Amino acid sequence: MTERKQSIAILGAGPIGLEAALHARMLGYDVTVLEREGVAENVRRWGFVRLFSPWSMNVSTLGLETLRSLGRPEPRADVCPTGREFHDEYLHPIAASLGDRIRTHTLVRGVARSSLLKGDNPGDRSRGRAPFRILLEDATGVSDMAADIVIDATGVYGNPSCLGDGGIPALGETTLRGFIDYQLPDVLGVDRLRFEGRATLLVGAGLSALTTLSSLVHLARQAPSTRVIWARRTTGPDPFPIYSEDPLPERARLAVEGNQLAAKPPPSLQVISGVTVGRLTPIQGKIRVEFRPVEGGGIARAIEVDRIVAQVGFRPDLEVFRELQVHQCYATEGPMALAAALPGASGRDCLKQKSPGVETLRNPEPGFFVVGQKSYGRRNDFLLRVGREQVRGVFGLLEGSFAAKIHDTSGATLEGVTASARGGPRA
Ligand SMILES: Cc1cc2nc3c(=O)[nH]c(=O)nc-3n(C[C@H](O)[C@H](O)[C@H](O)COP(=O)(O)OP(=O)(O)OC[C@H]3O[C@@H](n4cnc5c(N)ncnc54)[C@H](O)[C@@H]3O)c2cc1C
Repeated sequence: MTERKQSIAILGAGPIGLEAALHARMLGYDVTVLEREGVAENVRRWGFVRLFSPWSMNVSTLGLETLRSLGRPEPRADVCPTGREFHDEYLHPIAASLGDRIRTHTLVRGVARSSLLKGDNPGDRSRGRAPFRILLEDATGVSDMAADIVIDATGVYGNPSCLGDGGIPALGETTLRGFIDYQLPDVLGVDRLRFEGRATLLVGAGLSALTTLSSLVHLARQAPSTRVIWARRTTGPDPFPIYSEDPLPERARLAVEGNQLAAKPPPSLQVISGVTVGRLTPIQGKIRVEFRPVEGGGIARAIEVDRIVAQVGFRPDLEVFRELQVHQCYATEGPMALAAALPGASGRDCLKQKSPGVETLRNPEPGFFVVGQKSYGRRNDFLLRVGREQVRGVFGLLEGSFAAKIHDTSGATLEGVTASARGGPRA
């Protein structure tokens, strides 16, 4: 007699949700992927950006096998694809191979335990005997479905942080949202007209802000009446870390460019450091922005701009699993066990991360896992490579020792997975 495999619901068809689906299919689970928009919608949105990691770091063994089985060409390992190429040449074909296991345009509103409330049997593995109840919304209305295991891979890109001082809205921000880009705009492509010949305030100092800064300054070279004001909370020289012998040339190139712009801004660029945004006021078709100095930082001042690009980070949507028992980190809002095992992120090279071990993927809620970008909460140092390792870890926990059979293109060791999985399926 063959044992019935459990049902798995994967929330989100981004790169990591799809990777989880490939594993679930290979292992014979009854898998359903629930995606609120199209396949890998977030990657598609930033499709004009070139990834800083080359193909070899972005694909998995199972993914490449799937491409081969479809007769599709393998990507060149050492080339960094754009998001669009990653989507079209890898994620989309993989998703197509999963057929009707993927339900697109299906929003997950919430996940709970059937017949149990959040407060029932705290931290008790017996909660795992009740199936999950997943509330869905699609074009036909609202429905629900059951699953034995749930993997949340819904990312964070759909949930930008606020622009205002302290991370809550600036005065006037909520009413002026229509003038603010919270996700990366395609400044040199389809969104060009929003910025060409206008004054734009860019806020932030991470890789996304750097990408937009580079594009805006490039646009100003082509259309000289374009003005850019770049404001950040931090002070001091070299806002972008440069890693010695950086193996990612695209990241290194951008960081050098950003630091040069900060040190010697061209006439089209004004740099304001040591400030946060306090108040936004509409004035005759423009926005007046009042800055507040951070402690030991810049000075209070005001400017007028046509548009704002807020590249101030993203945060996880916690509503999805609010009724489950998930212990979250008070600083990052990522699941606590993983958050506690990750090193401090500031200025650290994300490439140097070590696997924190599969046990950190468990939650007090049995059978519920958070993987991918969302597992890092508000941190911005997540890598696709890490997500693939997490997926193998989750299935290692579910399956026992199967993980030994799989190797990954990243060359990461699976010993940690198999060792802890030998204890049997306790997930
Ligand atoms: C501009 C940019 C460049 C990056 N470059 C790199 C890089 O070079 N190398 C690297 O390793 N990493 C990079 N990253 C980081 C990271 O690898 C990506 O963000 C990656 O897309 C994360 O994959 P994910 O599957 O976890 O989440 P996502 O890609 O965000 O996918 C989540 C999916 O879930 C869906 N979803 C959300 N909410 C719901 C819901 N309630 N119900 C149903 N579906 C839902 C979304 O529509 C989406 O399709 C980059 C990130 C950004 C933003």
